[in-house]
Amino acid sequence: MKRLLLVAVILAAVAVVVIIAVRALRHDSGDLSVNQKAAPAIVIVDPAHGGSDAGSKGDSVVEKDVTLAIANKMSALAGEFAGLKVVLTRSSDTDVTASNRIGAAARESATLYVSIHANAFDSPTAVGIETLVDAGHASGDSAWSLALAVEKATVKSTSAKERGVRAQGTAFTGLAVPAAAVYVGFITAPEERAKLVSPAYQEQVARGILQGISDYLAAGSAGASTEP
Ligand SMILES: [Zn+2]
Repeated sequence: MKRLLLVAVILAAVAVVVIIAVRALRHDSGDLSVNQKAAPAIVIVDPAHGGSDAGSKGDSVVEKDVTLAIANKMSALAGEFAGLKVVLTRSSDTDVTASNRIGAAARESATLYVSIHANAFDSPTAVGIETLVDAGHASGDSAWSLALAVEKATVKSTSAKERGVRAQGTAFTGLAVPAAAVYVGFITAPEERAKLVSPAYQEQVARGILQGISDYLAAGSAGASTEP
């Protein structure tokens, strides 16, 4: 009877060891697959304005609604772009301080920062997409390359007029990561305004910006691997 008890204890001990070993192996292989995947690039997407700050207006359309709709579509579509994780500075019609917007980059350990605006002008004939970088940036640096990639891809996706990349303003001063502000069209141009409130066009804009970000990141990694 004592012998039977001893056998039972040994069998139980062996079973526990086997269970622990199998769990450890599973855990290892799980970690391995995580390690093999490159960490996604964290992209801060900032729908400019919001809440009490409507931004520019054209007819009954306000900039804060256009920028939010496009940002939310970027968030929804991000999964289609490998290696991208989109983090929004707001996902509803709320006030966000400038420091909280910019601060998202550090909080999220972001790779880059893209702000979305709509343009406005006195003349209703001004149309097209332009992308801004902070003052001091020049062709060839990382912010400019990001802006250029976003500008090109968004123009391609929408067939809008290409206005190009410009350096201006200080909204991104203090940001340690490449940053660009894409002005997705003129809210003051009746035809472009009609497009900017259309969900289908907003999706084209969102896909264009995501493609541009993706192109910028791909060019960066390709450049790094071909360097001597
Ligand atoms: Zn704006």
